[in-house]
Amino acid sequence: MTAYIFPPPATPALAIAHSDQRFPIRRVICVGRNYASHAREMGSDPDREPPFFFMKPADAVVAAAGVLPYPGATNELHYEVELVVALKDGGENIAVENALDLVWGYGVGLDLTRRDLQAQAKETRRPWDFSKGFDNSAPCSPLAPASAIGHPDQARIFLEVNGKVVQDGSLNELIWPIADILAHISRFMALQPGDLIFSGTPSGVGALEPGDQVHGEVVGVASFDLTVGPKP
Ligand code: MN
Repeated sequence: MTAYIFPPPATPALAIAHSDQRFPIRRVICVGRNYASHAREMGSDPDREPPFFFMKPADAVVAAAGVLPYPGATNELHYEVELVVALKDGGENIAVENALDLVWGYGVGLDLTRRDLQAQAKETRRPWDFSKGFDNSAPCSPLAPASAIGHPDQARIFLEVNGKVVQDGSLNELIWPIADILAHISRFMALQPGDLIFSGTPSGVGALEPGDQVHGEVVGVASFDLTVGPKP
């Protein structure tokens, strides 16, 4: 037994639908601007950009349920609903045609963003970590296994805030499909079991306010309901 100087932190994990088992999380890799409509709303040309990525700490992932804590240091907390891909296997330089073999299952989550801090970071050419990777910044539904639901590539993805649809897209609008994303990442780092990929958001991003009731769903895959907590 290793003698740690204090008890090691618990392994972050997500619930699995219809199971008592949990999915252990290794790290979180997020795709920027993967729907043309969202790339346009953020001021870029979706036809010209290769995929780009940023990361969140594994312990930024929390269950998308109950009350979501409103973070400090922002007045502009934005939602981005995204299909979440959970890996059971890994490797480097994965071929696109083999990439979906790495996938254990799928969920739906929010890539929460302190948009005001991100705008400052863009202006000053500084990193996005504190605008994207804060505590509780990656709420996610329970995961559904690909062995039960397959590999969704046409499903509707949408977000409702207080009963109003604010984001509404389809997985067939992904600029870089999931297999391409996994192959691309694996050229830069070894993917591993437990990695989660947040695959990008459709257009319609906007601010959450305390008390908002939020419903996210990828139809046939997973859904969640949560309430935004008070400002700290
Ligand atoms: Mn995003």
